[in-house]
Order: sequence, then structure tokens, then C-alpha cells
Amino acid sequence: MRMSRYLLNTLKEVPREAETLSHQLMLRACMIKKIAAGIYTYMPMGYRVIRKIEGIIREELDREGCIELLMPAVQPAEIWKESKRWDFYGKELLRFKDRKGADFCMGPTHEEVITDVVRRELKSYKQLPLNLYQIQSKFRDEIRPRYGLMRGREFIMKDAYSFDVNDEASEKSYWAMYHAYARIFHRCGLKFRAVEADSGAIGGSYTHEFHVLADTGEDTVLSCSHCDYTANIEKAECRKPDHIEHGDLHQIEKKETPGKKSVDDVAEFLAVKPEALIKTMIFTLEDDTAIAVLVRGDHEVNEVKVRNYLGLNALELADEEAIQSATGGPSGFSGPVGLKIRILADFAVQEMSNAVTGANEKDMHWVNVNPERDFKVSEYGDFRLAQAKERCPRCEEGRYQQFKGIEVGQVFRLGTKYSESMNCKFLDENGKEKPAVMGCYGIGVGRTAAAAIEQNNDENGIVWPVNIAPFDVMLLNLDIQDDAVNEAALDLYEGLRKEGLDVLYDDRDVRAGFKFKDADLIGLPIQVIVGKRGLKEGLAEVKVRRNGERVKVSPQDIPAKVEALLNGLKEQEEQRR
Ligand code: ATP
Ligand code: MG
Repeated sequence: MRMSRYLLNTLKEVPREAETLSHQLMLRACMIKKIAAGIYTYMPMGYRVIRKIEGIIREELDREGCIELLMPAVQPAEIWKESKRWDFYGKELLRFKDRKGADFCMGPTHEEVITDVVRRELKSYKQLPLNLYQIQSKFRDEIRPRYGLMRGREFIMKDAYSFDVNDEASEKSYWAMYHAYARIFHRCGLKFRAVEADSGAIGGSYTHEFHVLADTGEDTVLSCSHCDYTANIEKAECRKPDHIEHGDLHQIEKKETPGKKSVDDVAEFLAVKPEALIKTMIFTLEDDTAIAVLVRGDHEVNEVKVRNYLGLNALELADEEAIQSATGGPSGFSGPVGLKIRILADFAVQEMSNAVTGANEKDMHWVNVNPERDFKVSEYGDFRLAQAKERCPRCEEGRYQQFKGIEVGQVFRLGTKYSESMNCKFLDENGKEKPAVMGCYGIGVGRTAAAAIEQNNDENGIVWPVNIAPFDVMLLNLDIQDDAVNEAALDLYEGLRKEGLDVLYDDRDVRAGFKFKDADLIGLPIQVIVGKRGLKEGLAEVKVRRNGERVKVSPQDIPAKVEALLNGLKEQEEQRR
């Protein structure tokens, strides 16, 4: 492609609207253009990256026997009512009416449509397993669209759905997809982790998220330094603490703590460490009853764990009024002594003695509080957020390391949730009717592109991994007015293309410095630089974008040299861990 004929206006200034590096670089390199909040045009340069990622996804899924189809983006409300999600999904679902007044939505995901498709075609167990996928634009009316393609409202997703005869077969499909995902992200040249994630309160289902590791990630991932255990913060289990033999249990005593509400303030005021406090959080359940959850002062409640333990969809922190009515005191001074509601306590609280707690009275705390002696816990459990550096729950040697991650994909076992509610059944070997066992699998294509930039950049711009770079080579002609240089550059352009390489040829009539800056900003893996001075010695220059290495090579040797460099880079990138 000749740059003089391409649609590519780079920006020198960092656009003010963009907070993250990937968003800034995508705008500066003319990859995307915004038309409304969270809604973008993929400009030619950006769309090439999308196509490359899609190509890798297609190859790896086709290899697993997945079959591509394309479902409609517009979906009728009826199927969402059948699955009971029409009311459940909330404001992210963009709903509208057609001219006859019938309800429709823009698909945020396609479980309903695919289940409808398959129930019409599926008759016998002989047709299973089946794994169908599409690459298509989804719409989710996100409350805070941001970071460009990272969290858009309209975004391209690959979604796949597996149908199997039973749990065992479904599990096999799940792991096949898990491994396909790992291959896809390796081939994209990304450093990532597959992490265990929360699957909600649906029994028997489980799920992994694939996270690209990057400091700007919105998610927190904990990974054992010794074994394979890796989970996102919502899911990460805490090791049960070792039993501590208590010394003397002192006399419980009420102390004035004027205006001291937070753990740190109370601890400082009473000259104890935060871990000597028991934090009492009051929550309101769906039926408006209140419960208390106790954790050690230096720990945080994990609401997802509490919710799953209770088998609930929702759990809310109690407001001031609910706290007053449950404890008899104001917020900031809650405590378990004398409390008449259900009390859940984290395992770590079981090992505490002579602790400090709120006294359910303004400006008052108890000291020397002892579990069981001074208050009764209804149930102990793992109810807190795991923290970096604490010991791994799965092995004896490791400790948690904490990473920031960007969720680029997720694999999920659905069981028969949709096949039961939407009646997607088949006849088994004995002629008995059974619901298909399903799985669903998503990859955010645009988010993967953005995550790749977050992980691959330097102060001059993007450094594309070879397999997803928009072009392989940037050819820079430094003296567009010079016939000999033009001829040599054109020869190189043809020569490189003959090798099957994608070449962006900078034949614009602009200063060399300008071209160098753009080449680094756009970040193609290899730059080939042809100018008057080099040609006098019969040489052109090859530069590797990632490490800045430059070599002078005679023009006829350049295609082979570029090929070798690209292969070397590819190998390194696919091995990244
Ligand atoms: P998130 O927690 O980030 O909102 P999600 O878990 O709701 O995402 P899934 O339903 O698992 O998303 O969708 C599959 C994939 O689609 C995600 O792993 C992510 O890569 C991508 N994705 C989801 N929401 C968006 C979005 N608003 N913009 C871009 N990509 C998205
Ligand atoms: Mg997800």
C-alpha cells in the first residue's frame, strides 16, 4: 500500500479525551475514529489489525472443529423472555420497538439466538457435539464507556457456543476451547494468564477468564508463585489460617472513641494494630433482612463470596437507616456484641482474641472482645478478599503475587440453563429426550488489539507483535525527488511483496524526520529505509522496531533479511510468558 494513497492522518499531539496509552496511540495512529460515546469506526489501519486477530481466531477454532455462522444483531424480545433474561439484564440491554410496536434489542450476547437456532435443527444425539461461532458486533449500553476499544458500547466479539450430550462431553468441549484460547493469545504475541473466575450461584458451572497482563488493567489477578493456581480477585480463595493458641482472655471493656470510625483511626486512637480490630459490615438481602459479616481489621469483605455462600443474586451494603435498625447504633460503630441478626465471620476472626469492635453506640468501641465468649457467630467461612503475599491455598510453598489484567476472553460452562428454559432437546441412544449441555466462549477482538498495545509500546509509539501488525514492513523513501532512490524503493516494494509480505510504502513528499516519527508511531515490526546517501554506497537500511537494531544491507538481499528477522521476532513473541 502506498501511503500517499492511503487514509492515514497521524496526530502529533496526545488527544485530551484519551486516558490510556492504547487509546492515545490508536487515535494518534489513525486506527479508530469516534462517532459517539463508546462507538467507533475502525479506520483502514485499525481494521487490518482486527482482521489479523480474527484470522488467528478462525484458524484456531476451525482446527477444533468449530463451525462459523453469522447471527442477526437485532433480536426479538420473545426469546429473551423465554430465557427469563428480558427483565434480568438491566440497562445494558439496548431495547427498542419496531413500527408495529414489537419489542427488540441489540444483541449484547447470543445465547438466546443460538439456542433457538439449534433447537430447530437438533433431533438426535448423533448430531452432537456441535460448536458454533460467529465474529460480530455486539452492543452493550455500558454505564461508563471508556479507554477507546477497551470498553466500548458497540464492539466486535467472537462468540462461540458448544452443545453436548452430557456433562462429561461438555467438559471436553470446554477444555478444547480453553486450549484453543491459549494458542490464540500466544499467537497474538501477548503475555496473559488464564484465571479461575466467579461463575455466580449456578451450581456445577465454572469459568476461566483470559487476562492480558498490563498495569493499566481494570481487573486484579492473584497467581501463586509456586503452583498453577491463578484466580481473579473475586474468586481467589484464602488459605484457612493456622490455629493460634490464645493466652489470657481479658475482661471486656467499653471505651470512648470520639469521632473515630475507620479501622485506621480507631487503631491509632487505641494504639493497636489494624489486625486487632474486627470489622463489622452490615448487608441487606433481597428480602430486606440484615446480616453482619465480620472480617479482621486489615482484611476486606469479598461480597461475591458472601453472595455465593448465601446463594443470592444480589447483596447490598446497608444504608444508614438499615444499620440503625439492625444494630441500634450509627454506621462506623457496628459490632457483633449483643447483635441479634445472622452473623457470618471470616475464618481469620475465629483465631482472634482480645479484639476491638464497635459497640453499636455513637463514639464507643469495645476492647478485649473474644469470639464465642462475647458473641456467637452463626457460620464461619472464607468471606474475604485474598491479598498479595499471603500463602497459596492450594500448595505449601507458594505465595500470592498480584497482577493487573485486561480481560480479553472468557470460557464458561453453562450447563442446561438455556436448553432447559428454551427447550433445546435431543433424543439419546435410548430414544429418551434430554436437554443439550452447553458452554459459551467469548473473545473481545477490539479489546485484544487495545490490550496488545498496552503491552507493546515505547515512548515513540506502538510496537506491534508480528502476527497482528497491520502490515509487516514500513518502507521509507527518504528522497522522493530523486529518480534513483525512487527506482530502488519501487524495486524493494515489489521485491518484498513478492515474498508475500504486507508493505506500507511511505512515498509521501514530506521530511525524513516526519517519516521516521510516523514509522515509529505506527509501529510496524520492520522498517526498510532507502535514501540517497545509503544508495551511494549501494546500501539500504533495515531497522527492527522492537529493539531499534539497524543493519545496512544491499537492496537485493533485503527481502531475505526481512523475512529472517520477522521469523525470529515471531518465534520470540509466541514464546512470551
Ligand atoms: P467486562 O467484565 O469487562 O465488562 P464481561 O465479562 O461482561 O466483560 P463477556 O460477556 O465475558 O464480558 O464478553 C466476552 C468478551 O468480550 C470479554 O472477555 C471482553 O474481551 C469483551 N468485552 C466485553 N465487554 C466489552 C466492551 N464493553 N468493550 C469491548 N470489549 C468487551
Ligand atoms: Mg467476562
